Amino acid sequence: MFSKILIANRGEIAVRIIKTCRRMGIKTVVVYSEADADSMAVEMADETVFIGPPPAAESYLVADKIVDAVKLTGAEAVHPGFGFLSENASFARRLAKEGITFIGPNPHAIEAMGDKIESKKFAAKANISVVPGHVGEIDDTAHAVKISEDIGYPVMLKASAGGGGKGIRVAWNRKDVEEGFPAVKAEAKSSFGDDRIFIEKFIESPRHVEIQVLGDKHGNVVHLFERECSIQRRNQKVIEEAPSPLLDEKTRKAMGEQAVALAKAVQYDSAGTVEFVAGQDRSFFFLEMNTRLQVEHPVTELITGVDLVEQMIRSAYGEKLAFTQKDLKINGWAMESRIYAEDPYRGFLPSIGRLVRYAPPKEGETDGVIVRNDAGVREGDEISMFYDPMISKLSTWGKTRNIAIDAMGRALEDFHIEGLGQNIPFLAAVMDQKRFRSGKISTNYIKDEFPEGFQGLPPTDRQRDLMSVVALAMHRTLLARAAPDQLRTDWIVIAGLKKMQMSATATDGGLSIQADGRKLRLEDIQWRPGQPVFRGNLDGVDFTASVRPAAEGFVIRHRATTLRVLVLSPRSAEMHEKLPPKKAADTSKMVLSPMPGLVVSVDVVVGQSVRTGEVVAVLEAMKMQNIIRAEHDGVVKAVNAAAGDSVAADEVLIEFA
Ligand code: ADP
Ligand code: ADP
Ligand code: MG
Repeated sequence: MFSKILIANRGEIAVRIIKTCRRMGIKTVVVYSEADADSMAVEMADETVFIGPPPAAESYLVADKIVDAVKLTGAEAVHPGFGFLSENASFARRLAKEGITFIGPNPHAIEAMGDKIESKKFAAKANISVVPGHVGEIDDTAHAVKISEDIGYPVMLKASAGGGGKGIRVAWNRKDVEEGFPAVKAEAKSSFGDDRIFIEKFIESPRHVEIQVLGDKHGNVVHLFERECSIQRRNQKVIEEAPSPLLDEKTRKAMGEQAVALAKAVQYDSAGTVEFVAGQDRSFFFLEMNTRLQVEHPVTELITGVDLVEQMIRSAYGEKLAFTQKDLKINGWAMESRIYAEDPYRGFLPSIGRLVRYAPPKEGETDGVIVRNDAGVREGDEISMFYDPMISKLSTWGKTRNIAIDAMGRALEDFHIEGLGQNIPFLAAVMDQKRFRSGKISTNYIKDEFPEGFQGLPPTDRQRDLMSVVALAMHRTLLARAAPDQLRTDWIVIAGLKKMQMSATATDGGLSIQADGRKLRLEDIQWRPGQPVFRGNLDGVDFTASVRPAAEGFVIRHRATTLRVLVLSPRSAEMHEKLPPKKAADTSKMVLSPMPGLVVSVDVVVGQSVRTGEVVAVLEAMKMQNIIRAEHDGVVKAVNAAAGDSVAADEVLIEFA
């Protein structure tokens, strides 16, 4: 076996690879940019090599620097992780030339599958079902229209070199193609340096189901069943699971066989993923093959018990697969949530910054449930603008899908992050939705379920009780310190718009409560003044809530629900009722910057009439251009920013009369 491996990556995947290497007794080298000098991967690796400034193009993407680092440390092999150089055939060739092993597939397979047009042609030849469409060069817009009309609307325009959900557009009619074709072409040129576009049928209400394959250098290929990744925003995955609730045994077998056939056709000799788009009727079509370890590989590991990183290392070393297809079985169900530094309340815009608090749930197995958190960060670390804004990948496993979902809901509840926007409330909302539980999902799920954008979920009766009881317990604790003479039994608790009469008496470590005549039991309180997390047990069920004191009362979040809760004595409740309600500042006539960033353009001038939905400015943050649109019709009264300005979150960019 190798004695030393260099990891040409960063963050959670570098940490993930180090863990397997340690278990296998292999020493690790991690390369790092200036931005990652104090990272967890650097702390954990046996050796480290500095490779340059933060931008990936000047560090993680420079093949020369990686090769130099290998030579300097005497590593025998390179694991590229995902992203960066993982699907770069010329990098794999270069390593081979230098006598260094690439822990991934052979360069020929990377090349054959790296290009969507070429891989579709290849797949069609290998008798894999591909999405009906035109895989070939397209001359101009008129040609694109002709092809689209032959296929029949709706169609999807795709960049052949695209990836990560970029360079993709749906066209519902001729006009969409006429506008979309040049736009996708330009985007492909600027993002991938390759403007070849192809057109295929757009499968409506589709599901994304993919097959994990694994091959060795002796011609053996197996599949490790499927993952479903239909919960996506911007064509990018956020929640994944294995197996898929869509598949029956027959479809699973057919899909697995096609994936293996394709892998064998390219002499695939590592871990890889064959992606399919599937109809609700279980028809399925080949999308693309990713010739690398996949972000969501943990769910497959949880249901098969196979360590995919270990298998990649063994295959690269030349070992034969130690198992055959017959040895592989699906055991239970696994869910993965990608915890991103992004603001779900603002269209999932990236939100960078410092992890002022970072407290993940406890990992390991308890009561037949496994919790796993793949992360590369610690409290105090920064999620920088230079790399992917993923904070961690939280996975759960249980015997059944419902157990895995419940475990995920509970684990998300117990995950506390402060300092930047994060999508935990959104992920928790999905776990709590009946439709998700029913398994009737599609890639339109987020758009269908949150047509106006994500605003959190309204409280259930139990959540309202829970938050009221939490507020009451906190209020009593604070009062006992500050003004013990004001402690009493009877309270009025206003949770959101609902008022409840509550009486509370202390028990050992908890409270016994009457709420509008109902009995509630709060036990095992774990909270001290100043702490942002309140843990307890309500009527026998453990829970965690995020809490913070506000100008009036407390703001409490439980899963996807946030409420302001006031605890008042009956007398102050009466007075409170007479107060006029406070009005929030009116920002309807302003366009605020949704996040810190750089203004690329301001597209309106003073005096201009603007219609709802019109582009008013473009902001760049985390290497993404974010188009800001008018939320109401109006006439521009003031423009407070110009191209080139750096702006803070909530800065007023444009005002309407
Ligand atoms: P996957 O297909 O692995 O589940 P995605 O579909 O979200 O993941 O993205 C596809 C791949 O594109 C990722 O695995 C990664 O290789 C790459 N990628 C996406 N976004 C980024 C990014 N911001 N930085 C680096 N690589 C990225
Ligand atoms: P990427 O390289 O960016 O991952 P993919 O070709 O895998 O690009 O497409 C990304 C996502 O877009 C898929 O997961 C799926 O949700 C959606 N998609 C792609 N092709 C189609 C199609 N023909 N019909 C419907 N949805 C599609
Ligand atoms: Mg894809």
